[in-house]
Amino acid sequence: MNNEIPVPILDLKLQYATIRMEIMAAIERVMESQSFILGPEVEALEKEIAMYSQCQFGIGVSSGTDALLVALMALGIKPGDEIITSPYSFFATAGAIVRLGARPVFVDIDLDTLNMDATRVEAAVTKRTRAILPVHLAGQMADMDVIMDVAKRHNLYVIEDACQSLGADYYSRRAGSIGHLGCFSFFPSKNLGGAGDSGMVVCNDPALADRVSLLRNHGHRPKYYNQAIGGNFRMDALQAAILRVKFKYLDTWTANRQLHAALYRRLFTEAGLASENFQNRLEFPVILPKETGWGRHTYHLFQIRVQLRDELMAYLKTHNVWSEIYYPLPLHLQVCFTELSCQIGSMPNAECAAAETLALPIYPELTEMQIQRVVDTLTSFFKK
Ligand SMILES: *Cc1c(COP(=O)(O)O)cnc(C)c1O
Repeated sequence: MNNEIPVPILDLKLQYATIRMEIMAAIERVMESQSFILGPEVEALEKEIAMYSQCQFGIGVSSGTDALLVALMALGIKPGDEIITSPYSFFATAGAIVRLGARPVFVDIDLDTLNMDATRVEAAVTKRTRAILPVHLAGQMADMDVIMDVAKRHNLYVIEDACQSLGADYYSRRAGSIGHLGCFSFFPSKNLGGAGDSGMVVCNDPALADRVSLLRNHGHRPKYYNQAIGGNFRMDALQAAILRVKFKYLDTWTANRQLHAALYRRLFTEAGLASENFQNRLEFPVILPKETGWGRHTYHLFQIRVQLRDELMAYLKTHNVWSEIYYPLPLHLQVCFTELSCQIGSMPNAECAAAETLALPIYPELTEMQIQRVVDTLTSFFKK
């Protein structure tokens, strides 16, 4: 390994160093209270995240995965139901559907945004379709007007998987507020990440909020008298207290991510590796992620598309530049979904994305010098 300054994919220690005292005080507060599950810290975070997401209700849960699961349960999704979703997402999106005996019906993505191609959704609707589950990948929202339109025409529910897109906008409407239910994850590496697992469901419908909150805690109402079969999807007070500290900085961190994305775009274009011009961008070795212009992109990820992706990734690694692949195998081709009998080639765009996307470091604390080094290293790879 050489001794160039490393560029990690994420540096949570650096972020922690800037807020250590506040985090410690929050932990101390919870420890003194000896109240660890739900309670005032969780309720306060629920209000803050709901308001931030233009929603009336927030229900703190144990993870983003459980947010998706309990949201589907609240809608009464049952065996045989079909849920239309993206094949290019984290496993939990489809996993939650299959765990309830329902069937994920995948709609291929748009290669420019890596989100489900909204124009193809309607063709996937059948008599069994109950809901649409769009994923707002990387910090940018799917084309929600088109999706909501299809949902209205066919009387379907919409759950937004906004686990990567807390605070993203679609024509001034926040991620999570447009569908019937929105799901967030506070996994440590997300833009707002805790010190462990937790998540949240948001919505504007009081009946649905009540149902989610009932199912989050075994359907107890009152305690030990069960109105429904739920689960233990409760959020910890320690997570909520820590997240409340970090939430105050979220918009500043997001602004930094956006600056980094803009710098990447400029440097790649200046290096002659990429073009911002939509018409001829395919003629360059690096294809930059498309900004739809629909509203705030929170840049959870900055995913370029390249040929020779795996060779590039290895080359970057030898130069102490770290990258990641989100995701190397699309959901429709996962071994555990063999019984869905999806074929290779059935989702060509998702399969192409799985072969070509590479996420570059974009965490808020990254310096301009580090970003320059990422671009320089890519330049030396492509010009060697
Ligand atoms: C992170 C993530 C999840 C799951 O969240 P966890 O908190 O890790 O359970 C679901 N969907 C997407 C798109 C995600 O990125």
